[in-house]
Amino acid sequence: MINQPAMDKIQSSDDVINQIASHFESIIKLLGEDPSREGLEKTPVRAAKALFYATQGYRQDASEIMRQAIFEHAGSRMVIVKDIEFYSFCEHHILPFFGRVSIGYIPDGKMIGLSKLARVVDAFARRLQVQERLTAEVCREIYETLGARGVIVTCNAQHLCMKMRGVEKQDSSTTTVDYLGAFAEDADLRNQFFESVKL
Ligand SMILES: [Zn+2]
Repeated sequence: MINQPAMDKIQSSDDVINQIASHFESIIKLLGEDPSREGLEKTPVRAAKALFYATQGYRQDASEIMRQAIFEHAGSRMVIVKDIEFYSFCEHHILPFFGRVSIGYIPDGKMIGLSKLARVVDAFARRLQVQERLTAEVCREIYETLGARGVIVTCNAQHLCMKMRGVEKQDSSTTTVDYLGAFAEDADLRNQFFESVKL
């Protein structure tokens, strides 16, 4: 038996946005504000729409995005896409973290349309995330769905939960690296990638 939700349990996007909006209204009250004053009147719905948009990764299938643009390719040299911008939410504080992802892969008979790599990053970034898992998920997705010989992913990000609260380290950034296949076996290959992306 496939465990599927009953049809009447499936909620439309509008239903979800309206429910999130009512929670935002409660939060605004709890913060000591008046949600009915002019500037805040439409804020719960606007905030709900913004949050729903920024977490659309939950409603995307990264493997499906990739399968739309996989092509035969005889080359076996490293392909590098550098500085893919992303925006995500730290799952511990629901505050944004954002930065850039660079991806290198070594084809094994197949290549991927370059714009799809950016969409795969978005599919995993637009959720409640941690940077380490974002990096690992992008790496594994490309490695498995493309069937590449090797994949390496670096991510450099700034976390508003570090900047706005707690330690308030304004200039710190965090870098994470993950790799699979040929990049795990060959440090020279990794260094070649790091040299190209100037990490
Ligand atoms: Zn955080």
